[in-house]
Amino acid sequence: MTKLKIWNATTSWEEAEAAWDKGAVIAAQKKPLKRLKTLPFMPGITPETARHLKWKSFKYLLFRPRGKILIKYILKHPFKYTFRYLISLFRKKSFIREGDFFLYGIPSVNFFEKLCHNKKAKIVVGFSYCQKPFECPEGRFSKGCLADPNHEVCRQCDIGKIIAASEEKMIPIVIPTVHAIGEMLFELKERFPNKKILFLITACEMTLNMFGNFSHMLGVKGIGVRLDGRICNTMRAFELSEEGIKPGLTVVTDETQRRILDLVKKITMKPQSNVCDRKACCPTEHQTDEDEEQNSIRHCKPLFSPRCKKNKL
Ligand code: SF4
Repeated sequence: MTKLKIWNATTSWEEAEAAWDKGAVIAAQKKPLKRLKTLPFMPGITPETARHLKWKSFKYLLFRPRGKILIKYILKHPFKYTFRYLISLFRKKSFIREGDFFLYGIPSVNFFEKLCHNKKAKIVVGFSYCQKPFECPEGRFSKGCLADPNHEVCRQCDIGKIIAASEEKMIPIVIPTVHAIGEMLFELKERFPNKKILFLITACEMTLNMFGNFSHMLGVKGIGVRLDGRICNTMRAFELSEEGIKPGLTVVTDETQRRILDLVKKITMKPQSNVCDRKACCPTEHQTDEDEEQNSIRHCKPLFSPRCKKNKL
């Protein structure tokens, strides 16, 4: 995926975003995208589908042809994964809901932000394919994404904007199927055993409910962002969409897109807590220690630490 030059070291976030939005307006004049005229009012999950959803999810994820790949990964650590899955099953809910944000394994969005500042963090930023515009140059049912800021469609695309604003430790992906995201998370855990895998992904409410126990089984933490628009709220619609049959468009509401961008902004910027409050004691260049367990919050060594450069003067 192309890395946008607008979000770079020489511009502030606000300048970069204003430049992006200006470009989006010009692109929309040249090639307006098909958008939903109104947001349909649809329940997140129909009552019939909500019944025994945990069992339906389990069957769907493991007993479909692509489930074999997930089973292969699970069998590498069968006891660990089974134990975690069972613990999760006994919880009433596998997530905490804050508006359109579904929190998995974290108590708040602020906590997630702190985890993201950890040097060891790898953040999967994923988007459901049904959120792609109809005019997407890579096609809708595909994991491809150009994220080209000079392309008229990408410039108007919510996905394109978030990818453009994200930084290196964020791994942007488009999710064609729920199995694909499961495989990707397993693969990342194997490829980066010393990293903390986090996620920020968009999906329908039903998928977010189905995915919860598996995220706990994997031991990954993160945020699922609820999509609006023409979502899948029945098992049948979900199954068809997993085969690429999805004529409707899903969207992230303006308010939720703003929340995502604000979060990406905080993740990409140095956290306030990284600024040492003992700076007055040590006006020369600081040497800092990093406490990994405390999510990379930096602390200067105590005033008379031998590592404090002031003491060496
Ligand atoms: S940025 Fe949007 S329009 Fe461009 S390729 Fe990616 S999904 Fe498609």
